[in-house]
Amino acid sequence: MASITLNNLVKKYGDGFPAVNGVSLDIADGEFVILVGPSGCGKSTLLRMIVGLEDITDGDLQIGGARVNEKAPKDRNLAMVFQNYALYPHLTVAENIAFPLRLAKGKFSEDEIQRKIRRAAETLELTDHLDRKPGNLSGGQRQRVAMGRAIVREADAFLFDEPLSNLDAKLRGQMRTEIARMQRRLGTTTVYVTHDQTEAMTLGDRVAVLRKGELQQVASPRALYEQPVNLFVAGFIGSPPMNFMPGEVDGDRITLPFGSFPMPEGIAAAVGDRRLVIVGLRPEFFEDASLMEESKRARGETFGTTIDVTEWLGSELYAYVPFETHPDVAAKLEELDRDLDGEGMRSQFVVAVDSASRVRDGDDT
Ligand code: ATP
Repeated sequence: MASITLNNLVKKYGDGFPAVNGVSLDIADGEFVILVGPSGCGKSTLLRMIVGLEDITDGDLQIGGARVNEKAPKDRNLAMVFQNYALYPHLTVAENIAFPLRLAKGKFSEDEIQRKIRRAAETLELTDHLDRKPGNLSGGQRQRVAMGRAIVREADAFLFDEPLSNLDAKLRGQMRTEIARMQRRLGTTTVYVTHDQTEAMTLGDRVAVLRKGELQQVASPRALYEQPVNLFVAGFIGSPPMNFMPGEVDGDRITLPFGSFPMPEGIAAAVGDRRLVIVGLRPEFFEDASLMEESKRARGETFGTTIDVTEWLGSELYAYVPFETHPDVAAKLEELDRDLDGEGMRSQFVVAVDSASRVRDGDDT
């Protein structure tokens, strides 16, 4: 196993805008790091640079402390699992798993190969399918074979490129848990690319958010959610996304499109002496005033609104409430079987998330 260090990595295709633009990231030995971001942000390119499938235009890449910029992919001892699994259709599951071992001609005895196949199959619950061909397997089983091939190599790190995106929702959930369990059991350094934020938030020790080839923030899932460094991260992480609206600060109060509120604790310092800020309200920061105790309601600032549309997700209920300038503010409701006509709601709003300099600079998010 090994650490992976990216030091100011740049990738330019032709003369165009860099697909990866100065990314630095230290991935510790055994760590599980997720690369996430919208389509085209450069996450696959970055992964392919690590594994050696793309040349590095500039910067340093180290694996286990040694610079590997010029090393061929086969000499980096990394195992990559692709979206389409890249299995050989004419080989059995056992032979697919054994493939990298046979490729290292003569390095492993036949006994050793068989033992490694058996162990990987047990880990991945493939023992009963070893004689089958990939065409006769489900998507999830194929995925596991691809992982088996990565495991037997005893690679220094696993690199996953959107491995679950071809699976249906249920299987995706199962495989997500399997990957998390396997990674914990093996303790292998893992870099995992996805644009699915559930995967990003549930799988990794840390999540690296990319945008237009640049790293925005690297943090634990919780820190990303609670302390996003800019509007992009704040809006990207969370579903339904954070509601953004302009706020005007006046002393210890702040005015939003739907009313004026006392400045929440902890926000004043972030706001500093700025007057115009962008306020981010997570859906769960809203509270249904009609469910509150009278004493609490009397203390708070409530505002009335009609609920436009509701979205019931089984364990969660979201209401979309219209305000003059913001027709689609998402608010999470506490009580699932609530009669939803014309409820008053109270906002416990928090956070002017973005640094105001970015807002003033005309950041387009
Ligand atoms: P997705 O989630 O859609 O796969 P991504 O974040 O993985 O996107 P990349 O595939 O890394 O993004 O692409 C980053 C940028 O580099 C994009 O603008 C893409 O068009 C460009 N790009 C990727 N591969 C090449 C290539 N071989 N030649 C030229 N440009 C490329």
